[in-house]
Amino acid sequence: MGAKLPALLTLADLGEDALVARLLRGQPAGADVLTGPGDDCAVIGRPRDRRWQLLKTDCVIEHVHFAPDADPRRVGWKALCRAISDIAAMGGEPRHALITVAVPRTQPVAWLDGLYAGIAKAARKFGVGIVGGETARSPGAVFINVALTGEVERTRCVRRSGGRAGDALYVTGRLGGSLAGKHLDFTPRLAEARWLAAHFLPHAMMDLSDGLAADLQRLACASGCGYSIKSVPVTRGCKSAQAWNDGEDYELLFSIAERASLLLEREWQKAFPRLRLSRIGTLNQLTFGTQPACPPRGYDHFRQTL
Ligand SMILES: [Mg+2]
Repeated sequence: MGAKLPALLTLADLGEDALVARLLRGQPAGADVLTGPGDDCAVIGRPRDRRWQLLKTDCVIEHVHFAPDADPRRVGWKALCRAISDIAAMGGEPRHALITVAVPRTQPVAWLDGLYAGIAKAARKFGVGIVGGETARSPGAVFINVALTGEVERTRCVRRSGGRAGDALYVTGRLGGSLAGKHLDFTPRLAEARWLAAHFLPHAMMDLSDGLAADLQRLACASGCGYSIKSVPVTRGCKSAQAWNDGEDYELLFSIAERASLLLEREWQKAFPRLRLSRIGTLNQLTFGTQPACPPRGYDHFRQTL
């Protein structure tokens, strides 16, 4: 198991990334795993297969990801769309989902009907088949887990780790203020990510779930690069710090060769005239002492409460 730690160290001290790294240490990986833990999805297949399988699991929990009085249809939409957003972030298409729900015995059946209506709406819109799952009693909060498969053409699979020094960095949409409502109603950028993977093949891509501060750090770190940021598109009425830290934006963050950037901007305008695409900065060489100070961290599940 992991290194010996002081007996009183808690999850709040350790933080999410360090905890995940600790838990996964020494776990076996299958022979056909092309990308294991640490990206938006696991990638399964053989190196020369035409298509690879994507695997994702994700949960939403009452009081953490949604309020008890939230419309259950919006909660169902969110639960499935979070996982779809991760499949999109790899350049892939979602396929089949298993839904696990744990609820208290007193939960109104109408609430669950609403939850599954929201799941069905998202499943229909994004071409997902709901193929099973599990229901259980919860002693407290409502808990919903989605396990989702997807597929991606080998030549279009985009990981977090492919960014190169000199790449242009982009985000879709505007960031910050998601709690005002977007976190329940967002549209996963599936069409946009598929289009990017088909026409521009970004070097690195991920979806923004924990805030640009945390997620940009993850992409740069996985790519072995530093970065410089010029400006960030902020949601109207929000402050810049919110764009960096709020989380749950579910926009795409990607890097692409600098020489492709002008063509990308022009073609994006034609393909997605209603969705903003912003050049936020550049990936650069990671040289000791030159990396700009890390911006404030984004959302960490064990360090903050909603
Ligand atoms: Mg993600």
